[in-house]
Amino acid sequence: MGHNINDILDVAKTYISNVESIEVIKRAYEMAEKMHEGQFRKSGDPYVQHPIEVAYILATLHTAPSTIAAALVHDVLEDTAMSMEEMTKALGEDVTHIVDGVTRISKLKYMTVDKALAQDHQKILLAMANDIRVLLVKICDRLHNMRTLEFHDNVEKQAKISKETLELYAPLAHRLGMYRIKAELEDLSLKYIYPDDYKEIASAIKDKKSERDEDIALMISSIEKILKEHNLNNFDIKGRIKNIYSIYKKIISKNKTIDEIYDLLALRVIVPSVEECYRVLGIIHGEWTPLPMRFKDYIAVPKANMYQSLHTTIVGIGGKIFEIQIRTEEMDRVAELGVAAHWAYKEGANYNQETQQNEIVNKLKWYKDLATYVEMSGSNDPIDNLIGDLFSESVYIFTPKGQVIDLPTGSMPLDFAYRIHSRIGETTVGAIVNGKIVPLSYKLKTADVVEIKTNKNSPGPTKEWLKHCKTSHARHKIKAFINKKNRDELIAKGQSELEKAIEQFSVPVPELTDKLVKDFFAKNNIKTVEELHYEIAKGNYSCIGVLNRICGLTDAKLDDEAALKQYSEENLEKRRQKVTNCYGIIVEGLDRVQVKLANCCQPVPGDSITGYVVKGKGIVVHRVDCPNLAVNGTERTIEVSWDKEFKGCYFDTTLKIIAFDKKNIVAEMINIINSTKANIASVTSSKNDANECVTKFKLQVANLEDLNHVIVALGNMKEIIGIERVVK
Ligand code: MN
Repeated sequence: MGHNINDILDVAKTYISNVESIEVIKRAYEMAEKMHEGQFRKSGDPYVQHPIEVAYILATLHTAPSTIAAALVHDVLEDTAMSMEEMTKALGEDVTHIVDGVTRISKLKYMTVDKALAQDHQKILLAMANDIRVLLVKICDRLHNMRTLEFHDNVEKQAKISKETLELYAPLAHRLGMYRIKAELEDLSLKYIYPDDYKEIASAIKDKKSERDEDIALMISSIEKILKEHNLNNFDIKGRIKNIYSIYKKIISKNKTIDEIYDLLALRVIVPSVEECYRVLGIIHGEWTPLPMRFKDYIAVPKANMYQSLHTTIVGIGGKIFEIQIRTEEMDRVAELGVAAHWAYKEGANYNQETQQNEIVNKLKWYKDLATYVEMSGSNDPIDNLIGDLFSESVYIFTPKGQVIDLPTGSMPLDFAYRIHSRIGETTVGAIVNGKIVPLSYKLKTADVVEIKTNKNSPGPTKEWLKHCKTSHARHKIKAFINKKNRDELIAKGQSELEKAIEQFSVPVPELTDKLVKDFFAKNNIKTVEELHYEIAKGNYSCIGVLNRICGLTDAKLDDEAALKQYSEENLEKRRQKVTNCYGIIVEGLDRVQVKLANCCQPVPGDSITGYVVKGKGIVVHRVDCPNLAVNGTERTIEVSWDKEFKGCYFDTTLKIIAFDKKNIVAEMINIINSTKANIASVTSSKNDANECVTKFKLQVANLEDLNHVIVALGNMKEIIGIERVVK
């Protein structure tokens, strides 16, 4: 009951005369028969019957010989041991290319379970079918599978496949303007999804068939008569039946009964020219009353899927409502076959890869223009809107596991890698596309299967990588990685700089903790030791400035470059001098010089002082009356002074006290000193030759004033003989 290879060849030979073209079809058939040998369909037919039927449908659509050949072997790559190389050798690249496309699309079927994805999958399918012939084969493949779905034993599976057909393949056929196939796909789907509704509508149509046929026959002869009266002789009038699914949709959406749907009575008038279309319309409108608002001119304004026709609805013979379509033969062919009509094989046209590509590109432009038009016309048809995405800006890439990833056109393997996971991106060492190693500059194409080679010891992204990615996501991640790497290096640099500075610093520096840094630098938005190291390495803060601030030795503001700039040149100079030492000593005319307090005379703020320049060591500050200074002469002295605003540091100095010996005399002195602002760092006590008590207190005081308080307080003790500041 099915077709055979001779049926295909018979149809093919009506429009293909090239011997080699016919041979390719024959060879494809032989391959299919051999490779599918021993395989059977659920219907019990040999498997090869399926590709034969698919090829037969395509032959009736007048597709190219390579498309028919591809249809014959469309399941060979997926279901048999045949390799692509073998197929290319036997049938050529063109046929194999189509089969490969069909095989790739077949992989998608596992992912159409989710209804929300249906729209995405239409896009993917369209993008993948960069060759429309792939789509034609796939749609006809589905058509035959739907025609034989009754042999499927699983009712749930039948409904699932039907839903997929209704959501994916029927809209595709519609989009390509293949009305006849679209209608059949819809009706077959409805049969399995809503079998009761399907039966009801089908039987209602059948019941009224004879009545309707009579009405139509009567109307046809009336129109024929009147057209002839107007000297029109070259025309064809056909009755037509709407498909069950479109009636079903109307019943559901308009909430009507089947009797209330007018266009059950439908006619089509075919004439040779556009001009005659409008003439026929005028004649019919002159004879019968048209229903208002039911006239549509799709000739002047074609539908997005290329459909052209005039539509009108009239009150015809016996007061019955007729829907009438008027169009040219060419328009009729396009309406029935859609894009297949445009793509119908023209023998002699040179069908090499390049012209084919050009034709596709032209087609794309044409679709794009239409898409723009559809947008402007405000069409609400979601299917029409989809055309806008037909050849979108995206490429659809497969993971080795068959997951689909969409990326902008022009994307490269690194874009893919980063989309999967940034860890994969960072450890990428190479890319394999469709089983072959490619450079990172490879531009991904829809339907590429991409595998990323990673190595966890990879040094990671470099600036060079930025040239090999298109998505902002990947670029952002790569930049972040590079910045972090630079940052890590800078942090290490800052840390070693600061450690060196601490060693050379003249006062002990407390241990650096995040908390300590936060206490001193939070207002500069530095909250951790790492951040502090980073800022130092970037040159935003000097080590000495940082240490001064941490040791409470200077005004915090001075580290801030912005704040510094606010000071006048003069002030800046003065302040800089201050931060160069940690004792609040201003060295006139010298910047960043190392300053130390002399250990012999231990000056405190308020003492008169003089600086003494020691070669290679900086300046040692003595009290003016220090005997050591006098010994060394005055050539190397330099003027220094205390900064009166300076606060927050204690200065060591030593007092020697001579007192009459008595019990607990040292304890009394300690009590007195403790009542002042001075701290006692250490105490030593002994007796001299005169049996007097000699006590040395090493004290820490803020300034001379505080030291004098100590001296006055001790001097009030009646046992005290003398008090002096020690000079070693
Ligand atoms: Mn198939």
